[in-house]
Amino acid sequence: MAAPLSPVRGMNDVLPEDEALWERLETEAARLFKAYDYRRIRIPVLERTELFRRSIGELTDIVEKEMYTFEDRGGDSVTLRPEATAGIVRACLTHGLLHNQQQKLWTSGPMFRREKPQKGRYRQFHQLSVEALGFEEPEIDAELIVMSARLWRALGVRPTKLLINSIGTPESRAGYKEVLVRYFSAHYERLDEDSRRRLERNPLRILDSKNPEMQELIRNAPVITEYLDEGSREHFERLRRLLEDAGIEYEVDPRLVRGLDYYTRTVFEWVTDRLGAQSAICAGGRYDGLVEQLGGRPTPAVGWALGVERVVELMRLDEAVPPPAGPDVFIVSAGDAARRAGFAVAEALRDRVAGISVSIGAPSAGFKSQMRRADRSGARFAVIIGDDEVAAGRYSLKPLRTDEPQEALELDELVRRVSSAPGPRE
Ligand code: ATP
Ligand code: MG
Repeated sequence: MAAPLSPVRGMNDVLPEDEALWERLETEAARLFKAYDYRRIRIPVLERTELFRRSIGELTDIVEKEMYTFEDRGGDSVTLRPEATAGIVRACLTHGLLHNQQQKLWTSGPMFRREKPQKGRYRQFHQLSVEALGFEEPEIDAELIVMSARLWRALGVRPTKLLINSIGTPESRAGYKEVLVRYFSAHYERLDEDSRRRLERNPLRILDSKNPEMQELIRNAPVITEYLDEGSREHFERLRRLLEDAGIEYEVDPRLVRGLDYYTRTVFEWVTDRLGAQSAICAGGRYDGLVEQLGGRPTPAVGWALGVERVVELMRLDEAVPPPAGPDVFIVSAGDAARRAGFAVAEALRDRVAGISVSIGAPSAGFKSQMRRADRSGARFAVIIGDDEVAAGRYSLKPLRTDEPQEALELDELVRRVSSAPGPRE
């Protein structure tokens, strides 16, 4: 026998036992996006490499080290998307969705980054992403943050903290960059290799370093707050007031800059201290320059992305979801005619009872083994069918979770009984 193949490192299977958590998150998120009038868009997982280079930025961890980039058979350089914002903006430009229009969009799906796999950090992971394009008002930044807070409430999860900051406009950042370059140059010997490379062209990136040895230096670096332009300062003040009005607690973290180049003004991150080193569960910000950078007209925009695996893990810790329910009904049959009838009864139940889940198990197994499986499945009822029952046109309905007696019922009565029994699906 050939040895089974292993998966590609950092790429996970999501097993059925976790489905209840994933489904709950997806359902609540879809409901939430609708409540705020965001529409779904689906974009490809593969884009031209150029798109990410131009948007995320050359001197970022993602573009320098993490992208899955390859030549396709036609010789084009393509990349598995590391995030969704660039693709959404590209799609808006492709289809002219920003011509005299504003868009509120969301999407979900796998992202790919070749990072060092560890708990909470994978090479294929999933994000829910929301973007509002064409809006410059701080109300929209606030709306997006309030939305995420509402999602935590709906899911019953407790993130630890919301961090916010403003990184101003590219113009106002220029002055700050000079100050930063001076500061880090004065400590050149303490910079790691990445930071040295970024020092001249992209010193802000150094602030986003995850290297523990760099943290003290970063903590003592000058902060951007004092260099903000008047417009950004006012925008940020308004955002803060809106969050306060909405009762959202936050902490201003003047060192929060985020790992992608396209951000302007607002940046934010929801963090938790319960997932070890992987503390960010949802992050985003404003990217007023990106649409133009990708060839569109100047269009202000803001969005966030949530790490599905990390939020699912928090949901698990907070026991946000009951253990998965089994089927409602498990069919147990003995004999040839009974097998045929069992199959038909299962179909009839699915036809006539809305939302029901019915399992036919493995009908060739022995009666005892089928009964054992019915019991283990967590089903509320077994429908037991032997050749005698087929002849009589009555099937035995056996409650598996209560002490009520088993009854022999005609199909109509059986359907009524099953649909009126209280259960997880009602
Ligand atoms: P981190 O600081 O953990 O590297 P990031 O700043 O690179 O995160 P973003 O690009 O902001 O992450 O992506 C948004 C969210 O996606 C993160 O807050 C996180 O929850 C999730 N995420 C990012 N990278 C990974 C990964 N490799 N595996 C699992 N989830 C991830
Ligand atoms: Mg990262």
